[in-house]
Amino acid sequence: MLLAGVMIGYVVLPNFSTSGTTRITNVNEWISKNTAPVSVPVSVSVPADTNINMNANANANSNGNVNVNVNSPSGGIRRSLQDDNNEIDNDAAQKRVMEQYQILSSQSLPTATTPYILKTPKLPDSQRKKILVTGGAGFVGSHLVDKLMQEGHDVTVLDNFFTGQKKNIEHWMHHPNFSLMVHDVTEPITLEVDQIYHLACPASPPHYQYNPVKTIKTSTMGTINMLGLAKRVKARMLLTSTSEIYGDPKEHPQKETYWGNVNTVGPRSCYDEGKRVAETMMYSYKNQNNVEVRVARIFNTFGPRMHPNDGRVVSNFIIQALQNKPLTIYGDGMNTRSFQYVSDLVDGLHALMNGDYDMPVNLGNPEEFTVGDFANKIKTLTESESEIVYLEKSQDDPSQRKPAIEVAKEHIGWEPQVHVDDGLKSAIKYFQSVLDADGEIIPTGPGASKPKGGESGTVNAGASARIEE
Ligand code: NAD
Ligand code: UDP
Repeated sequence: MLLAGVMIGYVVLPNFSTSGTTRITNVNEWISKNTAPVSVPVSVSVPADTNINMNANANANSNGNVNVNVNSPSGGIRRSLQDDNNEIDNDAAQKRVMEQYQILSSQSLPTATTPYILKTPKLPDSQRKKILVTGGAGFVGSHLVDKLMQEGHDVTVLDNFFTGQKKNIEHWMHHPNFSLMVHDVTEPITLEVDQIYHLACPASPPHYQYNPVKTIKTSTMGTINMLGLAKRVKARMLLTSTSEIYGDPKEHPQKETYWGNVNTVGPRSCYDEGKRVAETMMYSYKNQNNVEVRVARIFNTFGPRMHPNDGRVVSNFIIQALQNKPLTIYGDGMNTRSFQYVSDLVDGLHALMNGDYDMPVNLGNPEEFTVGDFANKIKTLTESESEIVYLEKSQDDPSQRKPAIEVAKEHIGWEPQVHVDDGLKSAIKYFQSVLDADGEIIPTGPGASKPKGGESGTVNAGASARIEE
């Protein structure tokens, strides 16, 4: 015989604000202010002869299903209870569940690392594209994913987490328009897509030099695989090439017409030559197979979500300065770089992909600094007491770099909008938050170093944990 008893479960249903983008500084505080407890009477059936002390907790998941777990300390009884038709207003509950589902389907969840709600419109089928972003869990890729998701497209990230981090994309994980494929681009794959942004490739010198054979395979086999896919499904494909294809340039600033000055057998050649042949593949597939191609030659880019230990100059200097450790200059500091903020790059990639121009385009900020001046700028912006130390120059380090961006201005209507100082302030804030969360970081030096992909501070299993050919 069964007895029916009535119990109250507290179901926390989110009550999100839906206007504009909300900046959230404390996630827990935000959740407690923006959620309302709802008392839902439910019935529970237990065996008549069971003498138990019941604890109950209840929650609503994103599909709107209400689960109530009943635990008995003695027998460990756990039952998922159905709503009782006699006790609950089904229509009202259903309506509320649907409302919550609609909200969750149109925005990201705030997380510790992305404490914003990112809103996504519902696009009609005719406008919603299926977009593949290889390397989408990396620094640049994850910002591009944010833009594409916020436009309302279906976005698939393909990444092997060699240098990418799950936390860069975790705020989209629940969203019905978003998919993650943990996959290596050196392996073929079949998908239905309209556009491919092909970013997968380690970008920092210590990371791409750690396993040069893998870097070459990623640029060559990876790009061939993506071009094969683009050809099969008639997708437009954009390659993120690099200013490194100009090598140690004899022409300054570098125009797209400059053919470059690259050492084919130096430590940087796995990356430089890999990207050069990737560009060649793009135009071979265009000419032979009519694949629609776009090639962006990206100059040094920085911003939040750079891996804190990727060894690039911006992350190294900021992290060193914030910890009052010496800023390490490789060489005499007279070599130059030009730095662009990541949101400008993302806008440029988007404009290039969706415009008509199909020859290579430089994307970079022409504001040029010597590395020495840049070190001092970081010291000033962080109010750091760090000293500056001079270490041995890295082999084949390009002595100067500055983009000519007339092609981008003329053909895709793009030029950088963010001043370097403003971008640096937001990068500094980001790296301070990483230090607050992770504690001390000892920056990677100039030589080859093992990427620490996946979650920060841990070596990811698989590709990054061993050298594979
Ligand atoms: P990143 O290292 O943060 O991101 C690269 C992403 O590709 C990571 O998520 C990594 O896990 C993934 N990846 C690497 N090898 C892969 C493989 N074999 N299969 C699948 N995924 C793989 O680097 P980033 O700065 O975001 O650079 C993105 C792209 O932009 C790269 O192609 C890079 O060459 C190009 N680029 C960047 C810069 C810059 O300053 N950030 C400059 C020039 C070019
Ligand atoms: N660099 C430096 N100290 C560092 C890191 C980099 O002096 O701790 C120099 C590096 O030698 C190069 C420039 O800064 O001249 C940019 O290096 P980065 O690794 O960021 O990118 P690159 O443009 O060389 O690909």
